[in-house]
Amino acid sequence: MIIKITWLGHASVKVEHGPKIIYIDPWNVQGPKADIILITHSHFDHYSDDEIKNLSSADTIIVGPEDVPLAKNKIGPGKSVTVKDMVIEAVPAYNVDKQFHPKENNWVGYILTIGGKRIYHAGDTDRIPEMKDLKVDVACLPVGGTFTMDAASAIQAVNDIKPGHVIPIHYGAVAGTKKDAEELLSIKTSQIHVLDPGQSIEI
Ligand code: ZN
Ligand code: ZN
Repeated sequence: MIIKITWLGHASVKVEHGPKIIYIDPWNVQGPKADIILITHSHFDHYSDDEIKNLSSADTIIVGPEDVPLAKNKIGPGKSVTVKDMVIEAVPAYNVDKQFHPKENNWVGYILTIGGKRIYHAGDTDRIPEMKDLKVDVACLPVGGTFTMDAASAIQAVNDIKPGHVIPIHYGAVAGTKKDAEELLSIKTSQIHVLDPGQSIEI
């Protein structure tokens, strides 16, 4: 099964397999209606009611932590939900040296397992000890700094996780630039994909 992963700018990611469409943290996204929308936390650059309504049909499954009112499927770190052939796991996402994303908020990143392939969207997080235990094929990692880890920490996180593929995210809007993403190109042990908005990889 081929899975297509598209960076839609900032922290917005689209995952497609067959006709199924999953958006993670859609922000300023135009697109077809989603089967599933995953929200990592309630900050404006990750969660908007209008955005979700535009991308939803009556059948769309919306998953998010407690502070995301539109998410009917509440999730927190360590919890998972299964939607048909897909397992959606929520994993911890928090700051260790800044105040924007306190651990006690129970905000999340996600790992989607589809046909044995595992795709990780880290949410807004610093490099955290839990990353060492993740086993994923693709890691979408924030690199912009200020609110999340910066490129230097993201490089260390890649070393912790050792994913096959990395897509840098969370730059170009509220913090960070493409230059931050390009710093990850020094990594030789994973394939690094610095994408333009709308560009995809397939695994
Ligand atoms: Zn945030
Ligand atoms: Zn953010």
